[in-house]
Amino acid sequence: MNRIAVLGSTGSIGTSTLDVLAGQRDAMQLVAVTAHSRWQQLAEQTRQFDVPAAIVSDSSLVDSVDRSAFATGCEVRFGADALVELAASDAVDTVVAAIVGAAGLRSSWAAVDTGKRVALANKETMIVAGPQIVARAAETGAELLPVDSEHSAIFQCLAAGRREDVRRVILTASGGPFRGWSRQQLEAVTPDDARKHPTWNMGERITIDSATLMNKALEVIEAKWLFGLEADQIEVVVHPQSVVHSLVEFVDGSCVAQLSPPDMKLPIQYALTWPERRDCPSPKMDWSANWSLDFEPPDRDLFPALDLGFEVADRGGTCGAVLNASKEAAVDRFLAGEVRFTDIPQICRAVLDAHHFDPAPSLSELLQLDAWARRETIKWTR
Ligand code: NAD
Ligand code: MG
Repeated sequence: MNRIAVLGSTGSIGTSTLDVLAGQRDAMQLVAVTAHSRWQQLAEQTRQFDVPAAIVSDSSLVDSVDRSAFATGCEVRFGADALVELAASDAVDTVVAAIVGAAGLRSSWAAVDTGKRVALANKETMIVAGPQIVARAAETGAELLPVDSEHSAIFQCLAAGRREDVRRVILTASGGPFRGWSRQQLEAVTPDDARKHPTWNMGERITIDSATLMNKALEVIEAKWLFGLEADQIEVVVHPQSVVHSLVEFVDGSCVAQLSPPDMKLPIQYALTWPERRDCPSPKMDWSANWSLDFEPPDRDLFPALDLGFEVADRGGTCGAVLNASKEAAVDRFLAGEVRFTDIPQICRAVLDAHHFDPAPSLSELLQLDAWARRETIKWTR
C-alpha cells in the first residue's frame, strides 16, 4: 500500500487527487489531508476516506473547529509546523504537494528532505528554491514527479529519447481569457473578468496568473530546474484548445507531444503511479469527431510577464523568490481593487529590479527575501 498525504486537499488539485484516489483504493491509502481554513470540507473528506490524520493549518481556528465532524479516531492538528511534521513523517510514503503559494515550500522541502515521492503541484516550491530542492532530492533519493500538466507532459515526452538528445522543450499556454485583447481593454480588466479561464477550472490565484501569463512565466522557471535546461532551451507557444500539454524537440527535429483533454486527474495520477500507468477517471480523447489544434506565438508586448519568466529562469539565484512573492502580493492587491490588472507585471518588474541579487542564496535568505518582496509590493504606487 502506498500511503499518501494530500497537502491542500480542499483545493482544486486536492479534490481532483481525492477523485483519483477513490479509484485506486487497492493500491493507495489516504493517510492525511490538510486545509488552511475550510475545515468542514476537510472533515467531510476524513469521513469519506476514513482518514486517520487531518491538519487545519490556520491555527487561529483551533477553538472553532468541531472535532466530532471528523472521522472517528481521526487526529486533528493545527498550524503550519504540523504540515512540516506530517510531510517528514515515517507514516507517509508519498506527499501530494497541493498547497497554493510559497506557503507550500516548507512542507515540500520536508518531504524531499526525508526522501519521499513528491507529487509536486505547488510550483512555487520550484520557483523559489528550484536548485536547492533538486540538489537535496539527489542526496536523499526523493522522487520529484511533476503534477503541473505541462511538466507532466514534458516528463512523459522525455521518455521517447535520450536526455542528451533533447534540443528544447515547448510549453503550451492556453493564452488565458484575454488572448487577442487590446492594451486598452487589458487596463480595464476586473477581478471577475480574470477569474474566467477558457479551458481549465482551477484555484483563484493560478487562474489570475493564467490571465496575465504569469503562470506560464513561472512554468518556464519550473521547467528549467525540474529538467535541468538552459532558459534558451525553453519556448512558449499559445495553443487555445489546451489538448497538447507540451512538447519535446529532439536534435534531429522530431517533436514528441503529449495529448489529452484538459483535466488534472491524469497528471496527478501519473505522478502517483509512475512508472506504471493505470485506468484513470479523466475524460478521453474523442478521435471520431472533427476538430483541429491551433498554435500561435504569444504576444510578449501585451503580456510582459513572460519576459520576466525567461529573465528569472536565466539569472536564477534570488530572482525566483522575489518574483514569486511580489507576484502573490500583487495579485492580492489586484483582487482587492488596489491596482490594475496591467500593474501586476510592472510591480513585479520594479521589485525584481530593486532587489539585492545573490547568485547562490541559502534557504533562509530566500525566505527573508520573500518577506521583503511582499513589503515592497504593498508599498508600490503607480
Ligand atoms: P486552491 O486555491 O484551489 O487550493 C489551495 C489549497 O491550499 C487549499 O486546500 C487550501 O486550504 C490550501 N492553502 C491555502 N493557503 C494555505 C496556507 N497559507 N497554508 C497551508 N495551506 C494553504 O489551489 P489549486 O488551484 O489547487 O493550486 C494548488 C497548487 O497547484 C498551486 O501551486 C498551483 O499553482 C498548482 N497547480 C494547480 C493547477 C490546477 O489545475 N488547479 C494546475 C497546475 C498547478
Ligand atoms: Mg500548468
